[in-house]
Amino acid sequence: MFVDPVDKWSWISGLVSGLFAPTCALCGAPGLTTGGGRDLCPGCAAELPHNRDACLQCAVPFDSPMPAGTRCAACQRHPPPFETSLAAFRYEAAIPTLIGGAKFRGRLNLVRLLGQCLADRVREVDPPCPQVLLPVPLHASRLRTRGYNQALEIARVVGRELALPIDHGACVRIAPTPPQAGLDERARHRNIRGAFRVRGPVPWDHVAILDDVVTTGSTVAELSRVLRKAGVRRIQVWAAARTP
Ligand SMILES: [Zn+2]
Ligand SMILES: [Zn+2]
Repeated sequence: MFVDPVDKWSWISGLVSGLFAPTCALCGAPGLTTGGGRDLCPGCAAELPHNRDACLQCAVPFDSPMPAGTRCAACQRHPPPFETSLAAFRYEAAIPTLIGGAKFRGRLNLVRLLGQCLADRVREVDPPCPQVLLPVPLHASRLRTRGYNQALEIARVVGRELALPIDHGACVRIAPTPPQAGLDERARHRNIRGAFRVRGPVPWDHVAILDDVVTTGSTVAELSRVLRKAGVRRIQVWAAARTP
């Protein structure tokens, strides 16, 4: 287990926000100064595609508003192995640019912004509080080429905002799964099966799996199955974005 205590990185965040005035990552206008500063201006913030009308269980966006707690048809037919999901945004408009910058270009200000927005969404939904955040692990070879795990970096921001610890050692990715992009749902399931393993006993009863983008949900479903086998009873999924 590698549990990050809450606040381990707060001094870095304080340093970064103290050095640079918040500047909108999308248009360059002055950013919001609330909550320690945010690299987003009020205009661009209002335009972002928030994912409020979505399936309770898998967070897939609904085309039209539904009563709170509605599950999509797919979740009703085959309930996934996690209880609920939430995502800050739909993966559309400016969001792929923000996620791409956070994921492939190491833009720490975007990691911070996505984490702040995800924490906002968690506060808005106000789900039962998990004991710990579990970022979706990257395979060691991918970690070497990219240099960091974007899910872990976003989790650090969310953990700091919501005072939750992070466990990034409970699970490892043992299969270097090729990128899921471009695969249909069935191929994604095949691709991801057996990709994760727990390392020793998992001491948690209630966790929130954290990822940058949830697409079909096959990755978080596979990780949930492994965690359930290891004795975790309650699993939520928190993501910065969800594809329609
Ligand atoms: Zn802006
Ligand atoms: Zn659903």
